This record gives sequence, structure tokens and C-alpha cells, in this order.
Amino acid sequence: MLGDIFLTFFAFFLATLITSLIFGVWLVVSIVRLVVHVLQNVARALVGLPRTRNVDHKISHCTRDKCGAPNPVEAKFCRRCGQRLAKPQHVIVRRAAAVY
Ligand SMILES: [Zn+2]
Repeated sequence: MLGDIFLTFFAFFLATLITSLIFGVWLVVSIVRLVVHVLQNVARALVGLPRTRNVDHKISHCTRDKCGAPNPVEAKFCRRCGQRLAKPQHVIVRRAAAVY
């Protein structure tokens, strides 16, 4: 009788402990990721690069007339209709130091 109560209490305690442990780890990981993200954007702003959020906004539209859905540039097939998309053209960008 007393053993059953103790066992039930112990199981409840164990479940609570495991849940709080998982939540704690998730919370710490989330905070670390947020801090890293903010630091990256601050560092990028200091260097003069665009923020990470604005980097992957390149979109190519489906070539099919009836579809025209927006897709990521690197996608091989349309996400809506499955039409094969044209390969993105690689444009070579030359970066040279400007001399005035
Ligand atoms: Zn499409």
C-alpha cells in the first residue's frame, strides 16, 4: 500500500523532472540561437553586409502560363505544379577595388 503510493509519487516526480529537463534544454538552446542570430546581424551590419534575413529572397516564377507560382531560385521543379524549372543562370560578378 505504502509502496504503491511511493511508486506513483516517484513516477510522477520522474515524469515532471524529465519534462522540465527537456524544456530547460530547449529554452537554453533557443536563447543561444537567438543571441547568435543577433550577434551575426550586428557583425554583418558593422561590416556592411545585408542582414541574414534578407539573403534568401531570390524567387523565380514558374514558366507555365497557368501556374506562375513563386519558387526558390535553386528549385528544380515547381512547388505547385511540378513543372521543370529553368536552371538559374550563373552570372559571374566581378568585384574589384574601386580606385578614385
Ligand atoms: Zn508551376
